[in-house]
Amino acid sequence: MLQLLDITKDYDNKPLLRGISFSVAANETVCLLGASGSGKSTLLRIIAGLEPPEQGTVRWEGQDLTAMPAHLRNFGLVFQDYALFPHLSVFENVAFGLKMQNLTGTVVERRAREAMTQVNLSGFEGRRVTELSGGEQQRVALARALAPRPRLLMFDEPLGALDRALRDRLQDELRGILHATGIPAIYVTHDQEEAFAIADRVLLLHEGRIVRDGSPSEVWNEPGSAWEARFLGLGNVIEGVVSLKVGRSKVETPVGVFGLGCGHAHQAGEKVELLLRPSGVRLAADGNLHGVVADVLFHQDAFKVTLENGLYFYLPEAPQVGEEIRLCVLQSGIRCLTSPT
Ligand code: ADP
Ligand code: MG
Repeated sequence: MLQLLDITKDYDNKPLLRGISFSVAANETVCLLGASGSGKSTLLRIIAGLEPPEQGTVRWEGQDLTAMPAHLRNFGLVFQDYALFPHLSVFENVAFGLKMQNLTGTVVERRAREAMTQVNLSGFEGRRVTELSGGEQQRVALARALAPRPRLLMFDEPLGALDRALRDRLQDELRGILHATGIPAIYVTHDQEEAFAIADRVLLLHEGRIVRDGSPSEVWNEPGSAWEARFLGLGNVIEGVVSLKVGRSKVETPVGVFGLGCGHAHQAGEKVELLLRPSGVRLAADGNLHGVVADVLFHQDAFKVTLENGLYFYLPEAPQVGEEIRLCVLQSGIRCLTSPT
């Protein structure tokens, strides 16, 4: 469906996007995840046709869209700030884009109502948008984007202004609506939880490039670099030096010696970074990691235990602050984040 080929963009002579290529298939929701300022909104504007790239092409089913103006692309956009018209009713807001398309009154009415039903807003037609809650306003914005039956939907941090509980609910709703309508979507956010809750596929944008493209579980379970593990908040990233002991690779770190088990051919003496998963440990008197408890926090079905060395783990029972504990880091709780040189 949508295909980006080698998109580049500079601002102030600094490269922002350095060759972005990916595609979005039918029915697919792709989440583009990147830090603030990484170029996510710029990329959406390029796809929408609101801004030209320096190089590269945007294609739809093989057709180059370079010469096609934004209003003819039939892509829908939903922003964080909703951009609703405060002086218009809910219905008039939803129908706005349709009226611009020279459709008959009956078609406008039917499509606007259909979109309102899709987002569960039936009955809100005559309400003022200024009377609505943030979550309801965001659903009006979604209905307005759905009404012209776009062939692609793009979301730019649409839930950023809402509180966590409401965000969780709208995420689930949105995922349901996208799958029910079958419209392919690109969803931009800097919030990893949100991306993983909505995506069929996650793309990580870093320093102008897509550094990772995979299913949520692949990206979560198999981080390819220390940056990915840190950015996704997967756990403790520590440095160590590889040593070979009786033919087995070990990593010596300031907090203990760990098996490597990554299958990479690392040299003795090589510096590597490891991910220690917070849930990948158990209390054990002969454990390979020890530390003094600095903080204990109740965390749903476990306790988040932070040690004085800065590492944190989830344990089923709460130790005392100040207590020295020993943990066995399970092999499944360790991942090597460094590719061999
Ligand atoms: P994101 O959406 O990931 O936060 P943006 O795409 O909004 O990132 O912007 C990335 C960077 O590009 C900004 O930090 C800014 O420096 C630069 N930028 C964006 N738009 C413009 C513009 N119109 N003129 C100059 N610089 C811009
Ligand atoms: Mg942005």
